[in-house]
Parts: sequence; C-alpha cells; structure tokens
Amino acid sequence: MFTSSHLLDLVVDETGRGIASLDPATGETIGSFRPMTVAELHESVDRAAQAQPAWASLSDAERRRFLHRAADAIEESAEALAELLSREQGKPLNGPNARFEVGGCVAWLRATAETEIPVEVIVDDETGRAEMHYRPLGVVGAISPWNWPMMISIWQIAPSLRMGNTVVLKPAETTTLSVLALVAVMNTVLPEDVLIAVPGSGGTVGDALVRSPKVSKVMFTGSTAVGKKIIEASAANVTRLTLELGGNDAGIVLPDVDPAVIAEDLFWGAFINTGQTCAALKRLYVHDDIYDRVVDELTKVAAAVPMGRGLDEANVLGPLQNRAQFTIVDELVEAAKASGARVVLGGDPDRDAVGNFYPTTLIADIDPRERLVVEEQFGPALPIIRYTDLDDVIGLANALEYGLGASVWSPDRSRALEVAARLTAGTVWINSHGGLHPLVPFGGAKQSGYGREFGLEGLKAVAEPQVISG
Ligand code: NAD
Repeated sequence: MFTSSHLLDLVVDETGRGIASLDPATGETIGSFRPMTVAELHESVDRAAQAQPAWASLSDAERRRFLHRAADAIEESAEALAELLSREQGKPLNGPNARFEVGGCVAWLRATAETEIPVEVIVDDETGRAEMHYRPLGVVGAISPWNWPMMISIWQIAPSLRMGNTVVLKPAETTTLSVLALVAVMNTVLPEDVLIAVPGSGGTVGDALVRSPKVSKVMFTGSTAVGKKIIEASAANVTRLTLELGGNDAGIVLPDVDPAVIAEDLFWGAFINTGQTCAALKRLYVHDDIYDRVVDELTKVAAAVPMGRGLDEANVLGPLQNRAQFTIVDELVEAAKASGARVVLGGDPDRDAVGNFYPTTLIADIDPRERLVVEEQFGPALPIIRYTDLDDVIGLANALEYGLGASVWSPDRSRALEVAARLTAGTVWINSHGGLHPLVPFGGAKQSGYGREFGLEGLKAVAEPQVISG
C-alpha cells in the first residue's frame, strides 16, 4: 500500500531537468517527469516484445488472476492514487470524479478478467467444421488522454493483457505522473515488462510508438485531429487501430418530459468531470413547449453545484485541466455572447485568478450554427438550443462529423426509441447521458473513431481472429 508522497517519490524525476506537472487549481508544481527519447521508446518496445511470448504462454486463468491482483493493488492504494489524480488532473476527490475514477479502474480490470471468451463454432455440418479463435497480437501501443487519464489507460491495458499481449503505454503529457503512478502500482504484481509506461512530450514518443514495426495494434483515445495522424502513421506496418476520438454529443428533449424530473440527470450528463468527458452531453436541444422550464430547472441545479480545488471534499466540479482548454472554452463562450445568445449562468471567468477555473455556464437561445454548438467545447459551458420540429432537430443532431453518443429524453419509451434509431451515434442513451458499463461495447460513429471497447467485443478487438478449419 502506498501513500501519495510514496507514489510521487516513485515517479518524479529528481534531476530537476524534467517537465513540470502543474496543479491546475493552484498552478503549483506537483513534480517533474522526464520524457523519453525515441531511442528509449524503442528499447521499451523491445522489452515488451521480449516479454510477450511468456505472457501469452500463461493460461487464460493465470492471466485473469493477474488482472485481479492488479485490481487488488490499485484498491490497496486507492486513496493515494485518487489524491494524486485530483491534484494533477484537477477533478475533485468527491462526486463522480477522482475516487470514482480509481474505483472504475478496479471495476474494469475485474470485469475484463471475468468475461468469458467462448470458441465460436461458425460451421459444423456435412461440409466440415470451422471455429473462430482469438490469438494474441503481440505488443499493444496504448495512447491515452488527460481527461480520465487512469481509467482510459485501464480500458486499453486490461483487455490487451487479458488476450496475451504486452502493453507499452504513452500517457498524455499533462497527466503523466498519475498514469506513471498507476502503472507503478500495477507493476508491483505484474511480471516484468508486461506493462511499460513511456512518458513523452509533444507527440514524438506517441508517433514513434505508432510507427514501431514491433507494435501490432494501437489503442488511441484522444482528439480527432491526432487520430487522423495516427491513421496515416499506421499505414507503414498496417498496424491495427482502435480509435476513440472526439465527440460533440447531442441531447434531444421531447416535449412530454417533466423538466424538474430530468434536470439533475441532464446536468451530470453535461457537466461530469467539469465537461471534460468525450461522451458528455455537449449540445442540448429542447422543445419550445418546455424550453423555458427546462432552462429554469437546469439553472437551479447547476447554480447549486460547488466548484473549487479538488482536494477540498466539498467540491464536485474542478478546474479545467490545462490552460489551453480554458482558452478554448473561453473563446467559444465569448463568440456565443457576441452572437447575441443569452447567458443564463456563468460565462464570466476571472482570467487573472490562480488556476484554470471556468464557471459553470449555461447559454440559452443560441443559434444552432454557433461555434459553441458545432465545435467540441470540452468544458463546463452548455449551449441550449430551442427547437419546434422533430425532423429538423434530428437533422441538426446528425449534422456534425462527430458521432460518439447522443441522448433522447422522454417518458414515452417507444417514442424515444423511434428517435434513437434515427441518430448516428455509437451509443444512444434514453433519459440519461454518458453512463458506461464494462460489459457494454462503447465507441464512435463517423469521425468519433472506429472499433469498440469493453466486453467481449473489446477483447476481440485486441486479438487476431484465427479460423481453424477442418
Ligand atoms: P490529444 O489528441 O491532444 O492527445 C491524446 C494523446 O495523443 C496524448 O497522449 C498525446 O500526447 C498523444 N499524441 C499527440 N500527438 C501525437 C502523435 N502525433 N502521435 C501519437 N500520439 C500523439 O487529446 P487530449 O487533448 O489529450 O484529449 C481530449 C480529446 O480526447 C477530446 O477530443 C476528447 O473528446 C477525446 N476523448 C475521446 C474519448 C473517447 O472515448 N472517444 C475519451 C476521452 C477523450
């Protein structure tokens, strides 16, 4: 079991020449990490490649036990991990935040360990027998983002290890220490070189990882822009890809809802992790009949939710993780204000204050073509668009290049299902938004990516299908 200062001792670079990781609430330096050189990255990949055959030769039952032991290790140091995550990412300890994220790592590891992988008998008749098996790919290169840095890394690590691959993991630059700590904890129980973290800066290490001829598969979660670079880089070795990219999820509220009943779920669908969630509700379309009441109820909920430094137990919303993201949100809200949209709540950040705090912001009566609606804001600023015609609003929801998630809000399930069937998104939630389950496949349509994570689908995605015929 580690304390948070032990964890930091394990992962910080003592030379003082590393890159400082900053607390986004205070601007203070938490510690530094030293980015790897490309040569060091290649050495790491070599080590993972050498370790892979022995890992693959373990029985599936043994690998499942290792996943449980890694979950045990995380559980034992859960509070220390949550504290470091809260300091570096900014998300509060409480609420659906840092402790929740560390708990999610444990839950995903255990669920991945428990998923059964049946041999698929495709044909078994007078023409012969054909079975589908799933073999290890080799080394999986994993590249994770800064919004849910530990949990998303686990989403990549857990299925890869279960299927007999070893993993080389590149954390996002601004949340490197959290991921190095998570890996250090897991490596107290995993065999050597089965899981290696490769800190980097500016895309060099990530790019070299994707281009390595010894990496058979890349699991990438991040922006669509970087996802496109990875597609190009993967061409050299026909490297397999799972891409979980950007999102700009629409929520459609039908006129038959009770606004007071849905307000809290709407709020958390949009503002979980202070809006820095790929599949958060990022544009809310509300029918004219109930528009004003939905805005009022949502405002009541939003105004009461405390934001502040993550280590303060009272808070459930935190700062934006980095200044670049603060600037994106600020610019989009300023453009919306200039367009004549109505600020119902927030929209007035203190730009000179310490920390990257952007207030909870609701923007009503906004043109559906405004940048705050059509660009991914990835922060606590929700545009609420008025609509009257269902066909029009479905058209607007489907009009963007993104297609990660969407939601329909109505007490009439069959009506909601009809709308859901017309939405182009990897997941459509009914009367909620953004909830994930380790056994339910998750992934994007259109430029939100390709491939699916979680459950049996997710396991198959980090394996090579092999037909045994005869
Ligand atoms: P990002 O694309 O900037 O970075 C993601 C990772 O890619 C980081 O580790 C980064 O260092 C690395 N990287 C940068 N350039 C690279 C290159 N050329 N080659 C290889 N790797 C490179 O994303 P971000 O800002 O960390 O995360 C926010 C974005 O991630 C948002 O768009 C969000 O919607 C998306 N996201 C998607 C999902 C999903 O499941 N679909 C989940 C979380 C976040």
